[in-house]
Amino acid sequence: MVRCPGCSHWQELRAFRIGSTRNHWVPATVSACEFRNWDESENTITDTFIDGLSCNHCFAKYHGRSNLAEVLVKWLDYCLDSERVRLAFMLSAAWDRLGKQYRKFERVSSIYEVKDVVLDILPVAAKLKTHDFHNIGLTEILTLRMAFPKWVTAWGNLDHETRSFVEHSTWNESCKNFHLWFENYHAIEAHLVWVIQCEMEMAEKDRGDDLTDWVLSREGRTLT
Ligand SMILES: [Zn+2]
Ligand SMILES: [Zn+2]
Repeated sequence: MVRCPGCSHWQELRAFRIGSTRNHWVPATVSACEFRNWDESENTITDTFIDGLSCNHCFAKYHGRSNLAEVLVKWLDYCLDSERVRLAFMLSAAWDRLGKQYRKFERVSSIYEVKDVVLDILPVAAKLKTHDFHNIGLTEILTLRMAFPKWVTAWGNLDHETRSFVEHSTWNESCKNFHLWFENYHAIEAHLVWVIQCEMEMAEKDRGDDLTDWVLSREGRTLT
């Protein structure tokens, strides 16, 4: 928790609108391991930087609600965007491998179904190939969803040797967690669809006011 220099209340870190682009960031005192703040400003998260921040309530008081709304909208955009890329990467990892390995699959004569699956995902193939994760949208997700049951069938029909080949020699470079992907596919997809719909809703009209209301209402002021 951080104590706000403006109102002297201890509050969760989230009330200060900071977070790094790296997942496991910590406030740094040594310049070599400084983490940049999410806003892509020159601000690195040092103790001096944190000392100069004010909580959302104080920020609104000193800089105005509309300025707070502007920062919050940008921050949410940033969070949704990085979550979208992360989830799209997870969702597409094994599809990407499937496309890349098709030549190898051709040599495994028993996998007729795989050819079918690869053809089905062709409309998305270019985006997968270039890792264009921002543009994996609802249409692309639907294309992959339609192909997934075929892939499950193909997977189920593989003999042990071939399955082992697909599982180990094919996926281990960039998609180490093939089983994780396979078993959690629908959960990853549902999460990604939620993030995309959230982005669309935010883009629909100016949601800054709603967001500011919500943020200010949930910051507990009970801790002193
Ligand atoms: Zn404050
Ligand atoms: Zn998430």
